[in-house]
Amino acid sequence: MKPGMRLVAAACFGVFSMAALIADGASPALRAPVFGPRPRFLFTHEELDAWRADPAKSNELAQIAARAEALLSARRAVPDREGQWIFYYACPADGARLRPESPLAHRCPVCGKMYTDERTVAAWRTLVFNELDSEVRDMGIAYGLTGDERFAARAREILLRLAALYPSFERHDRWGRTGLLAVVGGRRYSQLLDEACGVIQLAAGYDLAAPAACFSDGDRRLIEEKLLRLIARETGLFQHFIDERCNHQTWFNAAYAAVGLVTGDEELMREAICGSRGLMFQLASSVTDDGLWYEGAIAYHFYALSAIQTTLDAARRAGWDFSSNGRLKSLWEGPSKISYPDGSLPVFHDSDRASLANYRSFFEWAGRYFKDPVLAAMGRGDFASEDRKPSAVLADTGIAVLRRNSGKDAVCAMMDWGKHGGAHGHPDKLNMVLYALGRELALDPGRISYSVPEYRTWCRTTAAHNTVVVNGADQDESDGALLHFEETGSFVSCLAAADRAYPGLRLSRWLLLTDGWLLDVFAVEGRKSSEIDLLFHCRGEVGGAEDFAPLEKPLEGSGYGHLKNIRSAPGRKEAAFEFRQPDGRSLRVTAAGDEGGVFLLGEGIGYTLNDRVPCLMRRRKAASTVFVTLYDFGTDGGPNRLDLLHGEESGKELPPWQAIGVRVSGERGSCVAGVDFRQNPSGRAKVAGHQIRRMAFCFEEPRR
Ligand SMILES: [Zn+2]
Ligand SMILES: [Zn+2]
Repeated sequence: MKPGMRLVAAACFGVFSMAALIADGASPALRAPVFGPRPRFLFTHEELDAWRADPAKSNELAQIAARAEALLSARRAVPDREGQWIFYYACPADGARLRPESPLAHRCPVCGKMYTDERTVAAWRTLVFNELDSEVRDMGIAYGLTGDERFAARAREILLRLAALYPSFERHDRWGRTGLLAVVGGRRYSQLLDEACGVIQLAAGYDLAAPAACFSDGDRRLIEEKLLRLIARETGLFQHFIDERCNHQTWFNAAYAAVGLVTGDEELMREAICGSRGLMFQLASSVTDDGLWYEGAIAYHFYALSAIQTTLDAARRAGWDFSSNGRLKSLWEGPSKISYPDGSLPVFHDSDRASLANYRSFFEWAGRYFKDPVLAAMGRGDFASEDRKPSAVLADTGIAVLRRNSGKDAVCAMMDWGKHGGAHGHPDKLNMVLYALGRELALDPGRISYSVPEYRTWCRTTAAHNTVVVNGADQDESDGALLHFEETGSFVSCLAAADRAYPGLRLSRWLLLTDGWLLDVFAVEGRKSSEIDLLFHCRGEVGGAEDFAPLEKPLEGSGYGHLKNIRSAPGRKEAAFEFRQPDGRSLRVTAAGDEGGVFLLGEGIGYTLNDRVPCLMRRRKAASTVFVTLYDFGTDGGPNRLDLLHGEESGKELPPWQAIGVRVSGERGSCVAGVDFRQNPSGRAKVAGHQIRRMAFCFEEPRR
């Protein structure tokens, strides 16, 4: 097949399938794109004029010009060899990003080690290429705003040099494969993704600089054919080796849209929107019904969103508007469903610590694009409504978000039962995170960094999560199920189960959140005896473990080697621990039913390698068992006491992993809660005389 033929075929398919793919705001087919005069991508002529005429923007204009002058005098050389994976530009010992001392020598700022190997040097060239891509864009903008030909000439110089070099670069990937074997690799960069991201910057800068007198028609042809469209065409050929749902494809689409708009290529533009892997396809297949990217990590959500914004910006310039598409808009509305009361976000799967406020510019963009006042307010940094949001089930993503109370007493617990999350998912079924006392207490470390071994040996283990580990092994990749969710005036509760996380074992977790405490009942049901650990990674200074004795030998199990300073004590029928916070408040954790088991207390890893987070582990040897825990926020006249109650049916006692009840009692009265864990509850089970269909909760006496 001739290069480009596949694109034609894909584009034709796209046109016919449009109506089926657009969820709402459907248009039967896209009319021909409009290619206005240059510049037409980041800014139009009129927009540049308006900017220049706006006194409020004169400072910004001066900064842009000054920065362009600085780049001009630095005049970075264009590397004449290929780049390597950017994550290789880090010290393997401590994860620190290296610093160049010369093009061939790179030093670790943390441990001082010098790296001169080809892989490191090539990774550094990627860094330089990235900077040059941005420079072309910035020079284009500076020229557009100032009309200073020197800026356009510098953009031209880089673009022509790249156009001359590009065909001579050999396809390669980060695993050392070259030529046609490097199917997900690139020429200048080691991955196709980077080629796509780079060409967007080049196209944007070219679009602004190309009207300058220093560009001949021949220059423009060369840059468009031998650089911009060549990269887009090759991406189109090799994209078939990459999962059509993933965020890389989203960037490929953005590259097609940008290059298509800038070079006036209708075929590329259609590929971006309605190609077989285009934006409309991804909206239908890569976005959950909850408005979250299917990979389940917020970092990738916004990474994909960034590409989508680029695609939509380019499409809008060509006269294509999708602002009435509700499924599209849901992508900007989804993240706040899972934010903590302070606007920060839990770090599930391959994510980093982040807050909605970090993504303000996205909401600002969406406020404009969709003309939506709520998104526009978030874009201005107004997250005031954040702390009184309703609880939510993100059924398609597989996360239940339980919220109670507000202001400084706002509490939020989330359970991840759901989708594994593709390549960026972790073996973390029934993982729970907790926000209370004004901060995130129980956490998931996310990905830390792809550059450090702990990414595999810790982040991607079950032990790094607040869930059950059986026989020290990681859970299998699987999807769980939500069995119950209920919200009333006094509590919010959810029950989820995972049958395939461990072969032959059923895991169920029931959370019940009130204003003052969270009840957590984790049931494990199996046939043969196993070592069952429930882990709880929680910030704070731990009290209640003064009698624990240091453990002689390290724990065995996947990820367990990272648990340090382990102390242990025999389990007890009831034990209370405190996680004291810097402001003097404490999370009081009451554990019940550990007689015959063991308590282990150590320190795991948080968001960085130096971030030590206490980990309380409860270990039992059993075929089936139930861990009952009460997390008391101290806002309910506590401390509260915990008693276990039997579940019964027709006068017969049920094993606790089938049905169990608890009584929580404190100064302000007592209440009884019960749950039936069975796949098909009979509806006749009882706890302390109260009938439980799936679960029950009631106050035994009036609240004082
Ligand atoms: Zn180092
Ligand atoms: Zn995780």
